[in-house]
Amino acid sequence: MADSKKVLEIIRAIGLKMEAEKEYLTELDQPIGDSDHGINMARGFAAVEGKLPDLEGKDIGTILKTVGMTLVSTVGGASGPLYGSAYMKAGMALAGKEEMDMDDFLSMMDTAVQAVEQRGKATVEEATMLDAMVPSLKTMKDVREALEAGVRAAWAGAEHTKDLVATKGRASYVGERGLGHQDPGATSYSYMLEVIAGLV
Ligand code: ADP
Ligand code: MG
Repeated sequence: MADSKKVLEIIRAIGLKMEAEKEYLTELDQPIGDSDHGINMARGFAAVEGKLPDLEGKDIGTILKTVGMTLVSTVGGASGPLYGSAYMKAGMALAGKEEMDMDDFLSMMDTAVQAVEQRGKATVEEATMLDAMVPSLKTMKDVREALEAGVRAAWAGAEHTKDLVATKGRASYVGERGLGHQDPGATSYSYMLEVIAGLV
């Protein structure tokens, strides 16, 4: 799914996004806060950007831990320690890993969300970042399960072709004698989906 190089690219892209949305995030923080959220995030990720060259070739755990420590030390607001703990704990979850798959990603996100809950002594329905984090994590886990269910359904469908008399292709020439035989195309498709679902 992603190797260390990809993770560095993603972190750099997050930094660019924070810079691009700096004013909007700060505006949002005006009526209900102290007008600094965008400034905080952009400052933190600008400091992260400065660390990226040294992180080239490092494992994912080290990259994420460094991002977290940098956010903690450069962002004054509540978001610094909160995102900082999230990235640091995410880094611990992926310590020494050069690559991550979807399962690693989901357990990393789980750890990150728990870190924010603990550090912020907060839960959903309190109007914080957790109201974006918790439901999105649940949906991503559901998608993972849906993909796995999709693969199982493909194999069940392929298996079901044994009970069918083919009316298309060469298999239609053998008629009823085809009963009990699994369709090759339904089988190759099931393998295809299995591989694709394993990648995401
Ligand atoms: P500050 O509130 O110190 O100025 P920021 O403006 O950078 O820090 O960040 C504010 C955001 O931090 C809020 O919009 C909210 O999403 C999040 N936040 C604040 N306190 C908590 C908490 N205890 N738990 C979770 N998230 C929090
Ligand atoms: Mg603020």
